[in-house]
Amino acid sequence: NNEKITVVASARGNSTNDLESILMKAAEKTGYKKKFEAFKEYQQIPNSSVDFSQEFSRLETIFEGVSLLGDYSQKIKDEVLAQGELLSVKLLASLLEKENISANATDARTLIITDENFGNAQPISSLSKENVIAYYKQNTEAINIVTGFISSNKKGETTTLGRNGSNYTAALLANFLDADELQNYTHVSGIYTANPDLVADAKKIEELSFSEANELANFGATILHAKSIIPLLEKNINLRILNTFNKEDKGTLITSESTTKGIKSISTINNVALLNFEGRGLLGKVGVDARIFKALSDKNINVSIISQGSSERGIGLMLWVEYNIDQVGKNFRVEGDWPGEVMGKQKDGSDKDYHLYQPHDVFKVDENGWLVYCGKDGDVLTTKYVK
Ligand code: ASP
Ligand code: MG
Repeated sequence: NNEKITVVASARGNSTNDLESILMKAAEKTGYKKKFEAFKEYQQIPNSSVDFSQEFSRLETIFEGVSLLGDYSQKIKDEVLAQGELLSVKLLASLLEKENISANATDARTLIITDENFGNAQPISSLSKENVIAYYKQNTEAINIVTGFISSNKKGETTTLGRNGSNYTAALLANFLDADELQNYTHVSGIYTANPDLVADAKKIEELSFSEANELANFGATILHAKSIIPLLEKNINLRILNTFNKEDKGTLITSESTTKGIKSISTINNVALLNFEGRGLLGKVGVDARIFKALSDKNINVSIISQGSSERGIGLMLWVEYNIDQVGKNFRVEGDWPGEVMGKQKDGSDKDYHLYQPHDVFKVDENGWLVYCGKDGDVLTTKYVK
C-alpha cells in the first residue's frame, strides 16, 4: 500500500548512561578506557561489519581531551551523548539493508534546530519544520531512520532535547510531516489503570485522551514525556504505546477524544508532604493565598497540588520532600524518572561510579550526610548527589 513510515531511534539500551559515566570517569582521571572499550564492543555486537570509526574516534578524541583537562561543559556532554543515537541509527539502517530493505540513517542535527540551551534545548519550530519537509521531499526512496534526542543550534553545535527526549523528536516529526499516527515502542504494553508494580490486578487501558494521559505523565508514568504530547495535540495525531517485546499486544491508543467516561487510572506520587493552613481568620481575607505562595516561591519551593474549599477555612498544598542531609538514618526512596542514576562512590572511597536506581530502591543518609544505597542486593554506595 501507500503507507509511508519513518523511524525515530534513541540510543541502544543503556548507552546514554554509559557514555555519561565514561565522560565522568575521564574528567575524574579514574581510568575511562576499560569502560569505553566495553562500550564499543557492545555497539558492534549486532553487526560486526558496520563502520563506526567516525563516532568512535570522535568519542576517543573528546574523552582524551576531557581527561587532560579534568573537566567538561554541558556542550561537550551533548556532543558525547549524541554519539549514542548516531551509532544506533547507523546500526539499524545496516540491519535493515541486510534484510534488503533500503534504509537511510539520518542525523537529526541537520533537521531539528534549537536554542543554545545545551542539555535541554528548545526546538525552533519554524526552522526545524522547513528542514524536515525539505529533507523528506528529497529522501523518498528509503525509510529514513532518524536519531531521536539530538539536535543542533543555529551555529551547528550539537544540542540535546533533554533525557528521554527521543519521543519528543518523534512527536515533532509527526507534526511536521502530518502523520496519521505515532507509535511509541517501549518496554511495557501501554498505560495501566495503576502501577503494576504496586497493584497486582492493574489492567491495561485500551484508550485514553491526551488530557488524561498528560495528567498521568505528570504523575510519573514515565513512558510519556509531557512535552511530547503538545506537537501531537496540535495536529490531532493519535499516539499508540506499544510493547517492543510483544508484537501481538495492541497497546494503548491515545487520542484527542475520550470515549468512555469514568475514572481511567490511578497513579501515585511518593515523597511528598501535605501542608495545610487552617483557621477561621482566612474567610474573605484578600491576599492570604498570595502571601503563602509568595513565601514559597521566594524560597524556590514548587507546589504541585492545591486545594481550597468554598468555606475558605483552609488551604492545602502538596510539596515535594527534598533530600535533606539532616535526616540521618532515615530510609527513603529516590523518585523521578526511573531507572535513573545517582552518582556514587564505593564505601571504601575508591571507584566513583554511577549507580542506576530502579523503582523502590531504598537509600539512607549516613552520619556524614552521604546518601547510602541499601537496595535489594545489599551493595553499598555512598554519594552526595541525587538526580
Ligand atoms: N538516549 C536518550 C536518553 O537515554 C534519549 C532517549 O532515550 O529517549 O535519554
Ligand atoms: Mg534512552
